[in-house]
Amino acid sequence: MKNKRKDVYNLAEEIQKFDVVVVGAGPAGMTAALYASRANLSVALIERGVPGGELVNTADVENYPGFKHIQGPDLANEMYEGTMQFGVVHEFGTVTKVTPNEGAHLLETDMGKTYQAKAVVIATGSVHRKLGVPGEDKYAGRGVSYCAVCDGAFFRDKDLRVIGGGDSAVEEGTYLTQFGKSVNIVHRRDELRAQKILQDRAMANDKIDFTWDTVVKEIKGDDMKVTGLAVENVKTGEITDVEADGIFIYVGLIPNTEAFAELNITDEEGWVITNDDMQTTIPGIFAIGDVRQKKLRQISTAVGDGAIAGQEAFNYIETLNG
Ligand code: NAP
Repeated sequence: MKNKRKDVYNLAEEIQKFDVVVVGAGPAGMTAALYASRANLSVALIERGVPGGELVNTADVENYPGFKHIQGPDLANEMYEGTMQFGVVHEFGTVTKVTPNEGAHLLETDMGKTYQAKAVVIATGSVHRKLGVPGEDKYAGRGVSYCAVCDGAFFRDKDLRVIGGGDSAVEEGTYLTQFGKSVNIVHRRDELRAQKILQDRAMANDKIDFTWDTVVKEIKGDDMKVTGLAVENVKTGEITDVEADGIFIYVGLIPNTEAFAELNITDEEGWVITNDDMQTTIPGIFAIGDVRQKKLRQISTAVGDGAIAGQEAFNYIETLNG
């Protein structure tokens, strides 16, 4: 009986209470934490990795105002320093469960911690989608990569293939030309999805060429590493083997919303639905940045979302306080 009481006492002690808990320290989450803490709210910023989100995996940023050109990790550091200046508490862990309860939402993490928050801001971003072909998992880290910034330097003077036709494939493909001997961008259509400026840059780069109307059927290799891939021309149906020393896959994003699946706040693909104030359908639970259902996923739009959510969390808590 004595022990049982002690357990209850410890459990209660483990719950950390904040006005706002922000989940995810990418540009969106950091901005929300900055705005909320600057408004004198107590704020916890929970992150499972290095602060910065996708910025950490981004080589060059040249479309974020204030910086003509900056490396992603450097911008992440700048943002983090600014974020922490008004007393934000940085907590480590992965949020595994959110139990809504107006004015006192509960969040549990894989570190065994429980947090209580008047307002919750979901800023968990997304991960790169896998191709889902044979050999992809087997050769991950052995020639297959999803991060040019992390792995590009391992491929000096090598022949590389980049899969995808969006901003990431074209931008990171261009970045890879500083290391690789050649970069072949394999796209399933005959037209790129990427922004025109990124397309023009890639097309003008002597090291880059394109394989159009082509999908990957299998990633092949020897006992050690990738040696090539089997591709299919979707117009002719012809399947051929092509060589490659490295394969960088950029075929879109998947939202990190596993922990929020039971809240019923996502669309059928898992993106969180909000209104213009970043409010989900649950009072006091907001969502921002790449994890949100939106058209333009950029650092600047993530920061905009974060500013709105930080301010709206403040407004919401004011109404709670009467
Ligand atoms: P994305 O825009 O969704 O593009 C994914 C690309 O992969 C598309 O070209 C798509 O082909 C292709 N694809 C999808 N599934 C495939 C499959 N199973 N097999 C082969 N190809 C497949 O993803 P993203 O390029 O990662 O960009 C994500 C978001 O970040 C976007 O909003 C983007 O604008 C943003 N972003 C911005 C910048 C920047 O502003 N500098 C840089 C990077 C990313 P289809 O075209 O045929 O659909």
